[in-house]
Amino acid sequence: MQSSGKNQNDLSSTPSNGKVHEHVACPACGLLCDDLVIRQGASGTLEVTKNGCAKGIRFFEQPLLESSPRVAGKPVSLETAVAKAAAILANSNQPLFAGLSTEVQGMRAVMRLADSIGATLDHMNSYSSLRNTLVVQNAGWMVTTLTEVRNRVDLLLVIGTDIVSYNSRFFERQIWNPETMFGQDTSSREVVYLGGRGLDTSHGISPGGTKPTVLECDIEKLPEVTAALHALVAGKKLSAETIAGIPTDELVKLAARLHEAKYSVIAWVSSALDFPHAELTVQNITETVIKLNEKTRSSGLPLGGSEGDYSVNQTSTWISGYPVRNSFKRGYPEYDPYHFDAARLLESGEADSLLWINSFSPGKAPPETKAPAVVLGHPATGFEQEPDVFIPVGIPGIDHAGTMFRIDSSVTLPLARLRQSTLPTLAEVITAIEAATELDSTHAD
Ligand code: SF4
Repeated sequence: MQSSGKNQNDLSSTPSNGKVHEHVACPACGLLCDDLVIRQGASGTLEVTKNGCAKGIRFFEQPLLESSPRVAGKPVSLETAVAKAAAILANSNQPLFAGLSTEVQGMRAVMRLADSIGATLDHMNSYSSLRNTLVVQNAGWMVTTLTEVRNRVDLLLVIGTDIVSYNSRFFERQIWNPETMFGQDTSSREVVYLGGRGLDTSHGISPGGTKPTVLECDIEKLPEVTAALHALVAGKKLSAETIAGIPTDELVKLAARLHEAKYSVIAWVSSALDFPHAELTVQNITETVIKLNEKTRSSGLPLGGSEGDYSVNQTSTWISGYPVRNSFKRGYPEYDPYHFDAARLLESGEADSLLWINSFSPGKAPPETKAPAVVLGHPATGFEQEPDVFIPVGIPGIDHAGTMFRIDSSVTLPLARLRQSTLPTLAEVITAIEAATELDSTHAD
């Protein structure tokens, strides 16, 4: 097994001290900014010298750790850990692959192994990404790309979030960009925040000092507020004087501004809409966009993204036909957002082994479970309950190359290998486990 393989996306095939990496893509959030400049120092240290936000800097400047595989908490060779992991999974009736924090190449390997041993798949962010997926499956939607936003938006309506808590550089890169392809004066763009309280709306102030419109309400009240806006955009009259504390007149004005705009964009972050049945609020937003397109141009823009969730769902969909919360247990792919919920499968005892994957973040350890657990994860992962097998893997975009989908799902970008690490990639470990599970089942026969 190679500890750190090269591929065509490897922007720095021979990382060396003092090297400056330009146009580096950052996988720390769904924006996948691809303009970072990173200098490699001694002993594998990395320093972001240009275009990083706090989250991006934290991601790239984490120290190089070379922890070793463990079985039952004791250090072992990689081969021993792989053999033990394969034995657990091959002898399991309903293996569950969860966490799934990885990029495209890692997920492709995961899908192959899931298919070969009949596993069920769920991502650690499914609880929030499902709020979007259910709308696409139920009704479809009209959404746009970050490039379209950068070049065309004239009115940005942000619902239930300040965006920057999730995607720090959004306004810098997509709204107040100094140039567009069509000569638009971006400083004349309008920004409206609708819903949420105490948000950081300072990023919505234009370079010329124009303040955004802020219409606050409790986040749980967004279902009625977005339903009211949808009705007003559709030309209905409302008799209530306020909706969730927002004067109805303000919503009437907002509906008129959306109709007058040449290219409005309505943005939201699914994980910020943390209340029951938030998919119905997302659908209010997307149906409002569809209504506006009868007379002008408007698009939705789902934002957020972390732990490779967009990449994992895209890869799963093109390989199996479904996003995660899918299963190969019956020998063919099935999808069920309720029955294939990892938390439910572990709590009910239906899953009798767990393969947990957390390549990006040390803090995303697996949930406690009585089922035998294998963890392929960030080398600094801390555990409350030591798993049966732990195999540290390289961090995508730092220790090895890879590929990620951007939040708008229409662009993939290469991740670079920025430093020398002896850690194997997730794909390498999964491939070795797959080979060992085949051996294991041959012996069982
Ligand atoms: S905004 Fe997101 S992608 Fe861009 S540098 Fe910050 S964390 Fe990385």
